[in-house]
Amino acid sequence: MGKKEQNSALNVTSGVQQPESLNREAIKNLKALKKPIPNAVKLLEGIEKGDITTLSRAITLIESALPEHYEAASEIISKAMPLSGKSIRIGITGVPGAGKSTFIESFGNFLLSQGHKIAVLAIDPSSERSGGSILGDKTRMETLAGNKNAFIRPSPSGGTLGGVARKTRESVVLCEAAGFDVIIIETVGVGQSETTVQSMTDFFLALMIPGAGDELQGMKRGIMEMVNALVVNKADGDFLDKANRSKAEYTNALHLYPLPPSGWAPRVLTCSSIEGTGINEVWKIIKDYKDFSSKNGFFKVNRNQQNKYWLYQTLQEGLNNKFFNLPEIKEELQELEELLKKDQISPFSAAQSLLSRFFPDNK
Ligand code: GDP
Repeated sequence: MGKKEQNSALNVTSGVQQPESLNREAIKNLKALKKPIPNAVKLLEGIEKGDITTLSRAITLIESALPEHYEAASEIISKAMPLSGKSIRIGITGVPGAGKSTFIESFGNFLLSQGHKIAVLAIDPSSERSGGSILGDKTRMETLAGNKNAFIRPSPSGGTLGGVARKTRESVVLCEAAGFDVIIIETVGVGQSETTVQSMTDFFLALMIPGAGDELQGMKRGIMEMVNALVVNKADGDFLDKANRSKAEYTNALHLYPLPPSGWAPRVLTCSSIEGTGINEVWKIIKDYKDFSSKNGFFKVNRNQQNKYWLYQTLQEGLNNKFFNLPEIKEELQELEELLKKDQISPFSAAQSLLSRFFPDNK
């Protein structure tokens, strides 16, 4: 991929796996040496004007693993915070093939026609292990990608799910500061990724395939308790009857669950992302939810709780990284592992001995 393409927010970078021999960190370092560290104040000026290229650069800075970028990254987030928050954040999940990209394209174009500015971010748990990706491995959402009021960014790659998620969470702040008023965060139903996306969105939507059994769709019990809406996609042609039957089944199933803390009973809808039917109803439900939860105070309470969750998440991750990267800890851990192998120490006293270096009162 050319340099120009990579820097443009209008291009969705493909998730092509890098050959093993490529040392990505080294390449990043080389590039960073050539380019001066972007100035946070300048970047923010561009973001405030809604300049997509600047927004993209700022997100790259946040995603950077280089320690010399941390300061500028955290400065830009702090400065962008007061400008953020004025959006609706929508989480979308669904198994591969459920039609997420087709739906987001259709939904996104509908929103653009209504005068909204939409940002589409992703959290792809597959990038954690392989560096490859389920979500970004094809050219997606082309009609959206070409619109100046749409910003599409693939999942940050590498690192733990928590690390990837934090970067996405911070990107939301920047997108909002750039004037995007509908933020979509997409994920696949793998592992913890759904809980993670739910922890940074106001409205959580699961896209379903008509007729497929729950187990086929990786439909975990937890999801039913998480969603604000289930949307049965592909309600067209031969799938139409199946889609309506699925809708009835999900509606019945959802009746069995108690009302969530928001007081909002999840809705079930059908749509066809290809024909564009039912798309405006999805938007109407989301607006209804925003009104409902704003009136009963849950919208704000939920965002506050999410902020608290992210404070603790970031602290935990920071402590973890700092601790395990200290040379003396690395060294002592190695020695302790040897002692463990020989049964000369218990795992608990080994841990206590390390912790007591930082917390001398630790007993
Ligand atoms: P993703 O993996 O969840 O992002 O799914 P895609 O958006 O790539 O869609 C998977 C397949 O389902 C593609 O072949 C789409 O053309 C098809 N598809 C998506 N939405 C619809 C729909 O509303 N109706 C029909 N009939 N097919 C759809």
